[in-house]
Amino acid sequence: MSRVYNFSAGPATMPLPVLEEIQAELLDYKGSGMSVMEMSHRSKVFQQIADEAEADLRKLMNIPDNYKVLFVQGGATLEFAMIPMNLKKNGVFDYIVTGAWSKKAANEAKKYGKVNVIATSEDKNYSYIPDCSDLNVDDDADYVYICENETIHGTTFQKLPNTKGKILVADQSSMFLSKPVNVSDYGIIYGGVQKNVGPAGLAIIIIREDLINENVDPTIPTYCRFDTHANNGSMYNTPNCWAIYVCGKVFKYLLSIGGLEKMNEINEKKAKVLYDFLDSSKMFNGTVEKEFRSLMNVPFVTDSAEKDAAVVAATKAAGFDNLKGHKSVGGLRASIYNAMPIDGVEALVEFLTKYEKENA
Ligand SMILES: *Cc1c(COP(=O)(O)O)cnc(C)c1O
Repeated sequence: MSRVYNFSAGPATMPLPVLEEIQAELLDYKGSGMSVMEMSHRSKVFQQIADEAEADLRKLMNIPDNYKVLFVQGGATLEFAMIPMNLKKNGVFDYIVTGAWSKKAANEAKKYGKVNVIATSEDKNYSYIPDCSDLNVDDDADYVYICENETIHGTTFQKLPNTKGKILVADQSSMFLSKPVNVSDYGIIYGGVQKNVGPAGLAIIIIREDLINENVDPTIPTYCRFDTHANNGSMYNTPNCWAIYVCGKVFKYLLSIGGLEKMNEINEKKAKVLYDFLDSSKMFNGTVEKEFRSLMNVPFVTDSAEKDAAVVAATKAAGFDNLKGHKSVGGLRASIYNAMPIDGVEALVEFLTKYEKENA
């Protein structure tokens, strides 16, 4: 067996102890005589897996009792539609567009109402987060939307926007469980899990109870109503049992290492290793304004696309995989999620330092 350092933006690297536990339980889950992927979602054994997953997530994130946790399929992308569909009252939605994912979300919401882009960083290719302390929030806005960490552009909000009393909705896909957040600051926190938590095919939605509206447009597909999932313990239909099981393992793993405070400490240390290198390098440059740098996704470039490609090839040959930047941005991108060990980042920096010396 040989595992590489996997810098993929998603699906992404997983904690090795979790993979090993899953491997050990693969054929016979705790004496049930079957694999989790073979069992009924209505079985007692699986219900316990799901209940524990939710309880552990609540503990990890300190989720208040007046918030529901929903496990839904369709990835983060389905939420781009479900959010405006379900929160629509006045049909006015305010979006802060800071990169590819918030732009996609805003475009999807246009199908269901009037979208105001109340702030954007598009003028500088999404390399910063605009000042959101005094925005022109619409009096009729049903919510204010952000993508808190832009996976492709590598920016992150250091401070939540002032929504002037409106509900804040945040896509946390690529920063989910990377640091403590104050759940009460949000109406909805959601994310696809395949970036920072588990296998693809599951979105987790943390939603304030009063936002679960039973009087939505009756033509909304049953699956796309928040109340469908809330009223059926996320098992209206067959859920993604496997992903729930694996996420549950990751929650336990995070609790075991000291929770999100500890995770954040590790993430800050880890990102600093890479950013310090980029700041001292003559060959490589980070593309994001320092203040808004993501701890999870680190885009960087040389001075030419040819050199970028050569570096990507060299890193791959040396056991550092998936460092090619997203096609819309180019260059390189190191996604250094929770499960990337600091050793991986240190080894990458060592390699790039040597590469720079040899190719200066
Ligand atoms: C990956 C990603 C998405 C899309 O997730 P899917 O699960 O593929 O739908 C949405 N938002 C952010 C921030 C992402 O990183």
